[in-house]
Parts: sequence; structure tokens; C-alpha cells
Amino acid sequence: MRNLILISVIVSKLISCQTSEKIEDIVVIGGGLMGSSTAWELSKYGQNVLLLEQQDSIYTSGSSFGEARISRSLGPKEDIFSFLQQTSIKETKGLIEYLNEGERDVLHSMEDIYRTSPVTYIYSKSQLNDVENLLDGQLDKYEYASTKEEAEEKFEMKISDTTMVIREYKQYTGTLNPKVLIKKLHLGIRKSGNRIDYNQKVTSLKKEDGVYKIKITDTKTGTNKTILSKKVVAAAGPYNGILMKDIAPYFRDLISPKRLFLSFLKIKSDKYDMLTSDQKNRLISSYPVAYLNSEIFYSMIEKFDSDQRPLLKVGGHFLRTEIKELDEVWAMKLTEQEIHWSKENTVDYLKKLDLPIIASDLEYVKGYSCVYSLTESEVPYVSNIIKNKVDIDSSYVLVGGMSGIGAKGSLAYGLIAADLILDKKNDSFMYQKTKSALGSERLMKDIQNID
Ligand SMILES: Cc1cc2nc3c(=O)[nH]c(=O)nc-3n(C[C@H](O)[C@H](O)[C@H](O)COP(=O)(O)OP(=O)(O)OC[C@H]3O[C@@H](n4cnc5c(N)ncnc54)[C@H](O)[C@@H]3O)c2cc1C
Repeated sequence: MRNLILISVIVSKLISCQTSEKIEDIVVIGGGLMGSSTAWELSKYGQNVLLLEQQDSIYTSGSSFGEARISRSLGPKEDIFSFLQQTSIKETKGLIEYLNEGERDVLHSMEDIYRTSPVTYIYSKSQLNDVENLLDGQLDKYEYASTKEEAEEKFEMKISDTTMVIREYKQYTGTLNPKVLIKKLHLGIRKSGNRIDYNQKVTSLKKEDGVYKIKITDTKTGTNKTILSKKVVAAAGPYNGILMKDIAPYFRDLISPKRLFLSFLKIKSDKYDMLTSDQKNRLISSYPVAYLNSEIFYSMIEKFDSDQRPLLKVGGHFLRTEIKELDEVWAMKLTEQEIHWSKENTVDYLKKLDLPIIASDLEYVKGYSCVYSLTESEVPYVSNIIKNKVDIDSSYVLVGGMSGIGAKGSLAYGLIAADLILDKKNDSFMYQKTKSALGSERLMKDIQNID
């Protein structure tokens, strides 16, 4: 009899355990820059949040992989991308303060993340209208050379008659380091008491009886489990379309992952050692750079090697290509043409800087394929999802289609996503303008325009 009572107690406990299965408040899927920023912003608001990431704690692939991204502010009047960059800097300062709170020493600084450096923009004379529009009433500090004489005088640059140069100067414009930023965001999330589960790949996502059922495979052990959540933020980068196939299938049409290549070049050591310190300083302070031409060559210093030689990262924003198999694209090698293009454009820039470097002085260190996801207008989405073409689902937010501009605004995208999922209001003009450019009204129109 006693055994029978014991068994029935155990059985009833087991049943009650199943029926009172924990329901998370908010689950964020994807621990790249966007998901980490969103989970941090939610943590800052004192929310309970669980961040799921399919990779290990060391981030090795995804759109945020690497140690440098251009962080730039210059834009026309009331530009949402300037607002996003400036807001992200403000939010990052808040993160740094929080991480240092209660520590005996100052362990974290903005300089761990940002390298302040002038940002150089090269235009052709045919873009004069764009340049005038950009500089009209410009509040950010800049210098502008509209002729080759001015370029020589202001920047010691040698340019042709058909070229113009703008340089932007502002604290924390230059480059930012995504690897360090992600690490600090994760520290902040954990310090606030929230959880990050690594090696957790979401394999299925459905809403049943008002609750999200999230099926997960542990990528290390292969074990499966299901968790429940009241709300979800999806920030799976190029994988957003696949992740959301049951919840919001239209994202497969609205966001397309594209392959890009990155080359990493160094000036050979014997040649670099021959440069004067003036030349080296000119080189270092002339990165990052973007040629605003049809390919958009951009380049930045990824890091300095042990003998202080800069590792130059080179890419072409419009040299993106279609992807056949997303999981396989990361391992694709660069073509000879891509490497040649990288060297050729780098030499062209070094020549403009009046540095005595030719193609054979450049060493190709490595290169890899990477992916970013693109919307038709190239403006990202930070939006609630839409049901039945017109109804807003306030329990689900997507952060995606970040293109090649997401990193500089990371924490601002995270802030907007956190505000959306919590239904928090912010009436400031630029916030509203940005939120509406990224948000649900546009998404609704885009869905209606799908063939
Ligand atoms: C080559 C290149 C150059 C760029 N240059 C610049 C620049 O100079 N300036 C700038 O501002 N921006 C730049 N960007 C853009 C910026 O890096 C991206 O916008 C940003 O990193 C996107 O972050 P994300 O979090 O959306 O995506 P990701 O970093 O891809 O993060 C998504 C995460 O979700 C995880 N995930 C996916 N599916 C699942 C799943 N099913 N379960 C669990 N986890 C999952 C992935 O592992 C990944 O960690 C560049 C991007 C690229 C690719």
C-alpha cells in the first residue's frame, strides 16, 4: 500500500512537472551582433531573456565574423543611418559603464571596441550633386577636396581631375571590432543574470495556443529538446528565412543572402620597413576608405600584426553573388580574379596616398567568403511580423536584412527590437523616422508586392 502511494505521488509529480513546463518570457535566436544587441537591450530593461546561438561561445562564422567594420556617421540631413550609428555609440557607452560597475579597476573601455580614425570617401566628379547634398548643412566634422590641388593640400593625396575626396572626423567613427563587441554584449547579458545557451540550433519554430514552441538540437551532443516562450526575437542573419519558414514564410522572398569575398593584404615587410614614419602615419590615418563607385571598393585595417604591419581588409560591396547552398558558401575559396581585383584597387588607393607601393609589394595573406542578407531596398527590417497580410503580431520581432551596414548601428537596432517586443514608446523625431523606415508598415507593403 505504502509503495502504491509512493508510486502515485511520483507519477502525479511527474505529470505536474510536465504540465507546469517553464515558459520563457522572451527568447532571442541568434547570437551575432543583432541578437546579442537585442538580448543586451532587453537585459538592460530588466527583462528575463534567453539568447540561443547555434555556434560555440567563440563566434566563428556568420555575417558578424571578423575584427573590423567601418563605423561612419556622415549622411545627408536627418539620415537614419547616422542616427543608428550615433545611437549605437551612446548605447555602447552605457554597456561599458555597466560592465565596469562594481569592479575595482576599469576593465572595459570604448577603445576596446572602436578605433577612431578619419573615414575617407572617394567620389567621381559625376557625383557632384550627391556630394553637395551630403555636405549641405552637414553637422559632422569633415574636410572636402573638390580639386586635385585641394586634395594635395588637405590630405597629401594625388588624385585625378575627375575625383573628389571627403574625410569625416568624429569620435568613434573609423572602425569597430565585432568580435570584441559581441564578447562584451554577452558579458553584459550574463552580468544582468540572463542566460546564453551556445551550441543550440533552432530546428523548428511554431506558435501553438499563443505560445511559441521552439525545437532545438544541441550541435555538440545531437540531443533534442523543445522549449516554450511567450515572445520571440529572430536575429539569425542569413538564416532568418529558413528559421521563419513556418511563422512568416514571406521572409524567404523578402530577404536574400548574398556571398561576398574578403581579401586580407599586407605590404611586404622589406617594403613596409622602407616607408618613413610620415608615410606610415599617412597610410594608417587614411583607413578606412570607400570608393563610391559602381563596385564600392572598401578597405580598412583589420588589425596590426606583431611587427606593427597593418593587415588590410578589402571587399567590394556590389561584387556580391547569388548563393546556391548557404551552409557551403562559407568554405568557398576566392577566385584569382577576386584576389587580383583586391590588389589592383589597393594599389590604386596607395598611389593616391602618394606611397611607393606596387602590386608585387603586396602579400595576399588570406581570404574568405562571407554572407550578408539583403532586402530589396537594402534597408534592414526591425519589425513585428505580420499575420494574414495585415495583422501585426506583437509577440514576435525580426531583425534582419542587415546588408553591409548593420554593424555600425548594432545596439540601435537592438534597442528598437527590444522596444518593439516590450511595446515601449519613444517619441523623438529621429527614433520615429528610423523605426518607421525599418518597420511593419513597410513590411506590409513589401509582403503585398510579392508576386
Ligand atoms: C563582408 C562584410 C562586410 C561588412 N562590412 C560592414 C561595415 O564595414 N560596416 C557595417 O556597419 N557593417 C558591415 N557589415 C554588416 C554587418 O557585419 C552585418 O550587418 C551584421 O554583422 C549582421 O549581424 P546579424 O546578427 O544580423 O547576423 P549574424 O552575425 O550572421 O548572426 C546571426 C547568428 O544567428 C545564428 N543562427 C542562425 N541560425 C540559427 C539557428 N537556427 N539557431 C540558432 N542560431 C542560429 C548564427 O550562428 C549567427 O551567429 C558587413 C558584413 C559583411 C558580411
